[in-house]
Amino acid sequence: MLEDSIIGEGEKGKLVIISGPSGSGKTSICKILTKNPKVKQSVSYTTRKPRDGERDGIDYCFIDKSEFEKLIEEDKFIEYAEYCGYLYGTSISTIKEAIENDEILILAIDVKGALQVIDKMPEAISIFINTPDDETLKHRLKNRLTDDDSVINERFVVAKEEMEYSKHYDYCVINDRLDDAVKEIEGILNIP
Ligand code: 5GP
Repeated sequence: MLEDSIIGEGEKGKLVIISGPSGSGKTSICKILTKNPKVKQSVSYTTRKPRDGERDGIDYCFIDKSEFEKLIEEDKFIEYAEYCGYLYGTSISTIKEAIENDEILILAIDVKGALQVIDKMPEAISIFINTPDDETLKHRLKNRLTDDDSVINERFVVAKEEMEYSKHYDYCVINDRLDDAVKEIEGILNIP
């Protein structure tokens, strides 16, 4: 639990961790879930460079490594992790703000970060999104035109490692059809 408890007893469901390998469809799922005005998605900090179309402060807060390390030193993150050579982190203030505004906040974060949040905030609901099988995963990764072959292969290996962690989550949702996966998650979160 965080020192100055930011989620009170009985508030399970306010903070939602969503993880899943690249290609699991978690970004599309989060996009649909956040159409509900009560649901917000946390904007993470990262040292990765923006991809085409990504906007600073909206998709991520893009910062360099020294800025990231300064935020670590200042204890600004509830969690942070390295993913494929870049640092990603969630700020504590984002979570506090969402709780104060009575919002449901989604953290779309990797498994290493998720385990840190599950440990600090057991009230959080954790959901792991998976693909029906490896073929679907490979196909989806290849169809993402934003990454080159070496990145795709690296992400496939990382995806397989990440799947090992799914047992630590409250729920595992298979994203075969996007609409069905979203409905299942809305059911878990008890939102329309
Ligand atoms: P991408 O580079 O494809 O946007 O994200 C790579 C991975 O980093 C994804 O699994 C994504 O969920 C994860 N990620 C994004 N933001 C955070 C964060 O704040 N913390 C952690 N631990 N992982 C994050």
